[in-house]
Amino acid sequence: FNVPALQNEVVLDYAPNSSERLKLEAAIREAKSTETDIPMYIGNEEIRTGKKVAVRPPHDHQHILGYYHEGDASHVKSAIEAALAAKQGWEDMSWESRAAIFLKAADLISGPYRYKLNAATMLGQSKNAYQAEIDSACELIDFLRYNVSYLSQIYAQQPVSSKGVWNRMEYRPLEGFVYALTPFNFTAISGNLPASAALMGNVIVWKPSENQMYAANVIMEIFKAAGLPDGVINMISVDGPLAGDIIFSHPEFTGLHFTGSTAVFQAIWKNIGNNIHKYKSYPRIVGETGGKDFVLADETANVDVVATALLRGAFEYQGQKCSAASRAYIPKSLWPAVKEKLLSDLKKVKIGTVEDFGNFVNAVISEKSFDKIVSYIENAKNDPKAAIVAGGTYNKSTGYFVDPTVIEVSDPYYVSMCEEIFGPVLSVYVYEDFDEIMEIIDNTSIYALTGSVISQDRATIEKAVKRLRNAAGNFYINDKPTGAVVGQQPFGGARGSGTNDKSGSYLNLLRWVSPRTIKETF
Ligand code: GLU
Repeated sequence: FNVPALQNEVVLDYAPNSSERLKLEAAIREAKSTETDIPMYIGNEEIRTGKKVAVRPPHDHQHILGYYHEGDASHVKSAIEAALAAKQGWEDMSWESRAAIFLKAADLISGPYRYKLNAATMLGQSKNAYQAEIDSACELIDFLRYNVSYLSQIYAQQPVSSKGVWNRMEYRPLEGFVYALTPFNFTAISGNLPASAALMGNVIVWKPSENQMYAANVIMEIFKAAGLPDGVINMISVDGPLAGDIIFSHPEFTGLHFTGSTAVFQAIWKNIGNNIHKYKSYPRIVGETGGKDFVLADETANVDVVATALLRGAFEYQGQKCSAASRAYIPKSLWPAVKEKLLSDLKKVKIGTVEDFGNFVNAVISEKSFDKIVSYIENAKNDPKAAIVAGGTYNKSTGYFVDPTVIEVSDPYYVSMCEEIFGPVLSVYVYEDFDEIMEIIDNTSIYALTGSVISQDRATIEKAVKRLRNAAGNFYINDKPTGAVVGQQPFGGARGSGTNDKSGSYLNLLRWVSPRTIKETF
């Protein structure tokens, strides 16, 4: 199989006065001076229902970026019909042509659309330039390109044959349509969940998060510019449970590609279970859900490495990553030094809008999210088991700003150590016994997505790698637990964190095929 060689997209740094900085600033100005009218894309139609919902930057209540049009049950049904109508043509297309469309989409993002898509992610999701660049540019480009290589690896897996017999494996797409339900926090995930299943020959109904419609619209524009045939990916904006009821009771529903909350995933799984007798095939259920990701340091750990892992792991993109470092375990002997370094680094951190490139922390996504985060902070202020050592302040008057908050807890099972907050809140427990703390880490939350051990002692590292084997699907040694790179650190976790079908690897794409074995006798 001849596919382009793999290389991760180079991350641009947007240094002041660089040409890329000027282009990104121009794209931001352009986006802010236009009110975008975001349709649903169903078959060859752009649907505008007139039931308009305003899209505002989370960091600026005053500004309207545009509107999306809310659909109803009829649009879900027509999206399913459009997908099924496109199915035969898409399946019959050669894999090279399908791959070429997504490779072209990657090149469009790498080239002319990079600034527009980054600007959309920055403004629509309140992501700073660097976080947008590693997401909506590099990670999405990498997903699209690496997926083609994974496809070729899968198609190359063939059974053995013998004299007089030729055995073949045909990697058919699933029979029916796939539903992609995508989150607000990564534009790359939003683009990849429909695209990876489509690459393998499937047709898709795609519902982006209502908090990510702005960048999702640009993704659709890019897919179309790359030549994606009408109906292969249909983007709808319909209330989730309403769309779910129609989709999950449809006989042709054949797969769910999901990233989002554990509660929603579990509700969907039940819904699918209740409808199981209606389907032609057992649906593939692929989900990446929550996390309560840990950083464990031992006494030999380098203080700067620990402080940086905590600062970046917990507070980049306001902690709104499933992988965010949200609970830390620091030995008593090390905590004073780590605390001093972390608090002094935090003093230098700037908070504000994304338009000022110097701001490291921006707004959280929505009022609902702001209120949830604040409730954990207020709870900590009123509980003797918790002490706020940094932050604890917030303000939603101009945008949904929550200051990076560090809570020191005296109970390792205090609520903020166990539950996913999805905001800039780090809880720290200062421990005395390493073996005991590993037991606690393993038993504290329902999740098992990412985790880090920070140590300069090989025996400790070895112990942690073994004892915490099931506590994280992505395990980091001497690093923060975020920032998995496609092709380098395939991403996903088990337990309450998902089905662990590793995005950024062939394992994910395997879920979107239904192989047929063919035996021919001569
Ligand atoms: N892949 C991202 C990371 O490694 C996290 C994805 C997510 O938040 O869902 O940081």
